[in-house]
Amino acid sequence: MSTDAPIFGGIESGGTKFVCAVGDARSSALLARTQFDTTDEPSEVLAKVIAWFKDAERAHGPLAALGVASFGPLDLDERSSTYGFITTTPKPGWRDTDILGPLRRAFPGLPLGFDTDVNGAALGEGRWGAAVGLDDFVYITVGTGIGGGAVVRGRPVHGLVHPEMGHMPMPQIDGDTFAGACRIHGRCWEGLCAGPSFRARTGKFAEELAPDDPAWDLAIRSMAHALATITYVLSPKRIVVGGSVRKGGRLGEREFFARLRRHHREVLNGYIASPALAEGAIDAFIVPPVLGDDAGVCGAISLAQGAHTTARGRA
Ligand code: ZN
Repeated sequence: MSTDAPIFGGIESGGTKFVCAVGDARSSALLARTQFDTTDEPSEVLAKVIAWFKDAERAHGPLAALGVASFGPLDLDERSSTYGFITTTPKPGWRDTDILGPLRRAFPGLPLGFDTDVNGAALGEGRWGAAVGLDDFVYITVGTGIGGGAVVRGRPVHGLVHPEMGHMPMPQIDGDTFAGACRIHGRCWEGLCAGPSFRARTGKFAEELAPDDPAWDLAIRSMAHALATITYVLSPKRIVVGGSVRKGGRLGEREFFARLRRHHREVLNGYIASPALAEGAIDAFIVPPVLGDDAGVCGAISLAQGAHTTARGRA
């Protein structure tokens, strides 16, 4: 089958599910999509993924490239012997798992893109969602854990390994005696604000809490400190906040963002002179995602497109 546009495959490799899709990257619309549970057997999961893409090629034509946006930590150093691996994850069965190897063997010669799930989601939102037209922005997810992807001058930041924004140390908020829920650090950002921290703090899921429960206020004030740190360090033009916690449970997404923006302004205390941070204008600085649950897999397709472009440049 021939088509005008190349077809790309995207894999969002998450801690609970693998989302696979194919699309032509001209929009965020997907030609086909499926998902598989992330069981404790990586080889079984990857075999299902590969079989699905083989079927997708029969239905939609050969893939031009494949992108993987994965939970981590990951080895993103192309010179490393473990490039394309998930490394030190505590997730049972997945430590030191080669993700790209089986894909390379199943699709010889196919350009492969590989990055963190949050860098992928950031690229997806930058291409088709809440950060279109921006070269400098940050995507945050606040769910079971907290992760952040930073795009600087149009490219996701890597470096030593990749950013681990969710584990930044946090100041103690007045009146907050909670020890935090991160197994490594206790009171890091993830330990104070991710979904499990609500459970540890109150015995309830965030979705169950009354809108006036003090846990919301404490978590949102902590989040504002984290976003202020990101604003100071990276000077993004926008911060997209995704993940389940940002939906605000019974508090509601609208009120969650209103409080987050207000506290962010309080923490900055007028220090950064930008009209984008003024009252009202900040509504366009701290925003929810547009692609929603498809941000990750769309980002993986964007990674595939990037790998395709790079491969053509080398050819
Ligand atoms: Zn931590």
